[in-house]
Amino acid sequence: MGSAEQMKDRLGHALCLAKWKQVSLHLPTGLNNSCYHPPLHAIDPEAIKINPSLLHNTEHKKHQRQIMLQGQRPTECSYCWNMEDQGKLSDRHYRSGEPWAAVDFEQIKNSTGTEDVVPSYVEVNFNNACNLRCSYCSPQFSSSWADESQRMGPYATSTPHNSMDHFTGNRRIIPARESNPYVDAFWSWWPTLYPALEHFRMTGGEPLMDRNTYRVFDHVIENPSKKLHLNVTSNFSVEQGLFDKYMSAVKTICDGRIEHFMQYVSLDGWGSQAEYMRHGMTFDLVWSRVDQYLTQVPSYNSLTFIITMNNLSVSSLQQLLEGILELRQKHSRTYQRVWFDTPVLREPAWQSLQILPEPYVQKLQSVRDWMSQNLTTSDNLYHGFKDYEVARLDRDIAWMRSAQTQDHAVAQADFYRFFSEHDRRRGTDFLQTFPEMRDWWARCEGMNRK
Ligand code: SF4
Repeated sequence: MGSAEQMKDRLGHALCLAKWKQVSLHLPTGLNNSCYHPPLHAIDPEAIKINPSLLHNTEHKKHQRQIMLQGQRPTECSYCWNMEDQGKLSDRHYRSGEPWAAVDFEQIKNSTGTEDVVPSYVEVNFNNACNLRCSYCSPQFSSSWADESQRMGPYATSTPHNSMDHFTGNRRIIPARESNPYVDAFWSWWPTLYPALEHFRMTGGEPLMDRNTYRVFDHVIENPSKKLHLNVTSNFSVEQGLFDKYMSAVKTICDGRIEHFMQYVSLDGWGSQAEYMRHGMTFDLVWSRVDQYLTQVPSYNSLTFIITMNNLSVSSLQQLLEGILELRQKHSRTYQRVWFDTPVLREPAWQSLQILPEPYVQKLQSVRDWMSQNLTTSDNLYHGFKDYEVARLDRDIAWMRSAQTQDHAVAQADFYRFFSEHDRRRGTDFLQTFPEMRDWWARCEGMNRK
């Protein structure tokens, strides 16, 4: 019985240790959440000046903890409740079963929910500086998107999309060049936080463009931590000088200073289709840097592809997975060094898997069936797929299928509105890049004319 199943019996109906032990910090906007499923909520910019641990221990989160301790299910965790109501294990079980959470089960179960907790799993984006304009991203996470929206205005979808008017008041994005009270509080908290960390992940924006990333690296190099799993999510598309600086620091850190370094690389498809989804990326450069990283960083590390499953991923997903198998063949000898995850994209609705018709579900099903014919075996431990990687794609297909009978007319019309404007602004060509989706494009164009 795996740790998730064991934890299921101990947790009961509603408790989730991630609510205490994990936090995602979005410091450009002063928002946070526990894992990445519940909606983001605000951090009090004044209170953190006195007590920086309130970056995580917000009044809102303490209230959610108390609801859980009373055996109630907080509505913000609907992602897990939907999975559990289908009789499946949810992220609540998986995360609470992880060592960095489970170690404090008794203490949390007997807590009041109002304590200030030092988490052991922290994700942080310090600022939104980024050189790409990925199709499903926003000014909140990409300064290049913010620049385009500032210059050209929002996209004329049914609701104006990525308008800078949205990012005002307490949703204002604090640019990297300005002082940021949330970042200041983070560094005040760091001496308390660092010793408790088991997983620390830097996302963005693009962390390789951010001076805070190298400040963390310098601290780790000076203060090794053998329990630390250090993770960085990157688009591997920054200019060469920055990439070289990054690689040199990572090699030093992986020279026995931490337990493990995980490099996350975002890639949602293959070749020109991958470039279309992540505007500004050069696929061959990213792929060669992945190979360089796996070749030059010799030990204590791995690489995970984050494949954000959206409706433009379906066509080239198998090619990407074939590429991953080749990397596994080349670089995974004594342990698995090349991983991938397939989280579903929920917003914007026009880029969701759920609005695609049945033939695309069948296409994804055929990829899944091909994976299940290429599983690892006892004498081929690393050059195939894991059963849970197939199970994850099953979850995506189940999620896709669960909306097949819904009316997606507005989202399909928005698909056409968004990508025809995308092509006009950015000089791209949807039909040239996705010729196999011609019928789908015509369908969306038709919805737009209605
Ligand atoms: S219950 Fe699920 S959504 Fe809520 S914090 Fe736990 S893992 Fe995240």
